[in-house]
Amino acid sequence: MSKIKVAELFYSIQGEGRYMGVPSVFLRTFGCNFKCQGFGMPRGELSNEAENIDPTQYQEYKSLPLVSTGCDSYASWDPRFKHLSPLLDTDGIADAIVDTLPHKEWRDEHLVITGGEPLLGWQKQYPDLLDHPKMAGLKEITFETNGTMRLTSAFKEYLLKWSMPDIDFQREITFSVSAKLPCSGEPWEDAIKPEVVCDYQNYGYVYLKFVISTEEDLKDAERAVEEYRAAGFTGPVYIMPVGGVDSVYSLNNRTVAEMAMRKGWRYSDRLQVPLFKNEWGT
Ligand code: SF4
Repeated sequence: MSKIKVAELFYSIQGEGRYMGVPSVFLRTFGCNFKCQGFGMPRGELSNEAENIDPTQYQEYKSLPLVSTGCDSYASWDPRFKHLSPLLDTDGIADAIVDTLPHKEWRDEHLVITGGEPLLGWQKQYPDLLDHPKMAGLKEITFETNGTMRLTSAFKEYLLKWSMPDIDFQREITFSVSAKLPCSGEPWEDAIKPEVVCDYQNYGYVYLKFVISTEEDLKDAERAVEEYRAAGFTGPVYIMPVGGVDSVYSLNNRTVAEMAMRKGWRYSDRLQVPLFKNEWGT
């Protein structure tokens, strides 16, 4: 039986992107190829806020402190926190997912597979989970990815079956690509992979979502969009304010909304911040 290392599993409202406001189950897998220590920091500086948290003081994920700089999901990839993310079999994950649903069956809820980077190590395991009898009735799935991981041939073949006209019901697959700009602290050549993202378009609906706080970030987003478009990317572009905590988010959400209007791009909120203060499990 397949196993996935699960950092978090919870039911909430999707706060970002295409499905903003939709009741959703979030499966946060463990592991990421980035660190994104630049978020919320002056250009060129890296945050050590998460590094200063002592993992031995915490026995459960939801008691971890929130950070205002760097990756707000640090415990989903930092090996020092891996003891908080159990390796669960797909039977147990499917049971736990359905148990979070208000009617204990799929109705209008959507599933978000997030991370960390969910396409990094677990592509082989997803078919077992998504074909589980308890997942029958699930109609919409989003992979929240940083857009740097190629899909494996086996996973591509699997995803294609959900768009075949002869199956009982089709599943809508979305790739929400949060490509990392220099404000993340990740190098451009590692983070902006247009050919990888363009390939996702063959297997689902794809949009780009950039985290922005300054005009410099916006310029970087423009440059990135040019590169994606030149490679054949046809989907919409969202920009979203930086800020995993309310004090940071509320400083730049209106500015970013106005930037989106100016560019004719879409604005994505982070509803989980004003609604739930971005607590773990929201
Ligand atoms: S890609 Fe996402 S999960 Fe990974 S370090 Fe960056 S913000 Fe965190």
